[in-house]
Amino acid sequence: MSPLSSERLLAIWEHGVIRHPLDRALLLYAQVRPDLAPDQLADRPLGDRNAALMRLRWRNFGPRLALWLDCPSCGERMEFELTAEQLPTMLAPPESVEVDGQLYRCPTSRDLAQLVGCTDVDTATRQLAQACGASPERCAQIESAIEAADPWADLALEFCCPACAYVGEASLDIAAYLWEEIDCKARSLLDDIHLLAQAYGWNEAEILALSDSRRSAYLARVMA
Ligand SMILES: [Zn+2]
Repeated sequence: MSPLSSERLLAIWEHGVIRHPLDRALLLYAQVRPDLAPDQLADRPLGDRNAALMRLRWRNFGPRLALWLDCPSCGERMEFELTAEQLPTMLAPPESVEVDGQLYRCPTSRDLAQLVGCTDVDTATRQLAQACGASPERCAQIESAIEAADPWADLALEFCCPACAYVGEASLDIAAYLWEEIDCKARSLLDDIHLLAQAYGWNEAEILALSDSRRSAYLARVMA
């Protein structure tokens, strides 16, 4: 997997910017798994999607993720960097897990789409477990079995607040994180195209065909 070209990144942004976050995630997933049809991607375990998006992120923006979090107890802002070593090993997640002789499906993007509009986390978690075949009284047990089998499905990060020592867990939404970066990069590319087109009269395709370093060199001259 090579990094996305400027042209490709803008095309992805153009398709994704008008879509629901879940569809954006699938659009990005398709960049890593061009061998699978959209319907197949929607039915893959969430952990497989998230691991693929993380690889896409590393390839395009480097291996370190800058994160911040406000302590839920005292409000202190914590800033930290997340590296690959701090994340679970990337193993292909199973399609299902076995608990007491019965099989339960691992949650997929299609399952998440059924929860759109549900604002309560506990209700959503319960509905998700039920979509995977868990009966209401076994939800918690099935949830932990799925979590153990597919740790990438919900990337939970433990933290300890340096100000008040509060210990908690936060989830990293890699799809939203990566989209934010793509959105930012696309808007900055559009700004560059706008400036260079005005200054030199080149068209969009010509400007996108320039390497990043050559484009920056011309931009520096326009700004000087
Ligand atoms: Zn705190």
